[in-house]
This record gives sequence, structure tokens and C-alpha cells, in this order.
Amino acid sequence: MSLLWVKNKDGAWVDHALDNDFVAIGPDATISLVAPDARGSHTGTLLVRSGDTHGLDRWLLICRPGSRTRVNGVRLPIGVRVLVDRDAIDVGDCDAIDVGDCDAVALGDRDATALGNRQVLFFSSEQLAQVLPFPGKDDHTSCIRCKLPLESGTPAVRCPAPECGFWHHQSDDQSCWTYTAACASCGHPTAFDADFQWSPWEL
Ligand SMILES: [Zn+2]
Ligand SMILES: [Zn+2]
Repeated sequence: MSLLWVKNKDGAWVDHALDNDFVAIGPDATISLVAPDARGSHTGTLLVRSGDTHGLDRWLLICRPGSRTRVNGVRLPIGVRVLVDRDAIDVGDCDAIDVGDCDAVALGDRDATALGNRQVLFFSSEQLAQVLPFPGKDDHTSCIRCKLPLESGTPAVRCPAPECGFWHHQSDDQSCWTYTAACASCGHPTAFDADFQWSPWEL
């Protein structure tokens, strides 16, 4: 399940699992769930789950064309983007640097002014390891660890590393995922209580 990293009031990055098909991001980077029958009337920045394939979900970001929403610092001319791992989503208002986006206001004496507070969120497609029925994917019919066939419906773990994704058996009889501390292909930790490998703290 993909997630959003959001900075809280104390300046700490907190992960929010995208466990709904429609998720709205408010101008102050607040996240709210949107009911399916309300998505048509939503006018802000909306994340839409476009499908769940073999344990991986895909997400679209939809906003009004010409809005101030940016991904990785770039506006979205047609208001749609397929999100990729570590995309930086900026739905904040204009600030002093980005004067091109601001409406001109003639200041009067003693006017109170405030800079916009840009709140950037990060989309992450990193998944945590979980046991799922093997979906019968055509091009990975063997366990990467033991090389034996993976039958459709067999309990299995898909390595959550975005660049890997190989499947391993994982049952009481065939615990190929947890056989060692690392994925048989990429070295990703196999502990089920392992934390995320990436967070915005690294930036
Ligand atoms: Zn195996
Ligand atoms: Zn792996």
C-alpha cells in the first residue's frame, strides 16, 4: 500500500497509508478521505487509486489545470500525473519567491502581511512486506529463493523494494521469504516489523 509522508506541527515526518480509493489534499497539506459519490464535486487536489496489480497500487494526482499544485516543483498543465515513488507534492499557496503565482495587491500603511506556508508532501510507493495469495503473475512463476513453482493462491510475499518485486513462498511449510534476513534478490530486510527503507528525513 502506497503512502504519503506529511510533516506534523512538531516538524516530524509522519507516514499516512493510502487506504482509500480517493484521498483529498487540502491547501494546508491536510489529508482527508473522499467518498466515491463525492469525488465528482471535489475541486481541490485529489489522489485517485487507479488499480491494484499484483500487490502494487497505482495512484493518479488530479487537480484543476492551472492550479498552484506542483509535483517536484512543476505545475501540471493538464491537471493529471501518474505518481511515482518519492514525488514531492506541493499544494501550498504562493510565497515570496514564487511571485509569479501571486495576485498583485497594493499594500497600504500598516497592512498585515504573511508569507504563504508551503507544505510539501512526499508520495512513496514503498510497500511493507505482507503475505498475500500469489496472484498467478505470468512472468514470475517460480519463487526467487527456492526456484520451485509458485501456484496461484499460494501464500507468498512480494519483495516490497520498488526496484525488486520478486515473489517468495511464505507459509509454515515454505518460509522462503523469512528464510534469511534479506530478500533473495535485492537484500531488502525480510522482517515483517521492518520499518520503511526511505523517508523524507533523508533529504
Ligand atoms: Zn520458495
Ligand atoms: Zn527484493
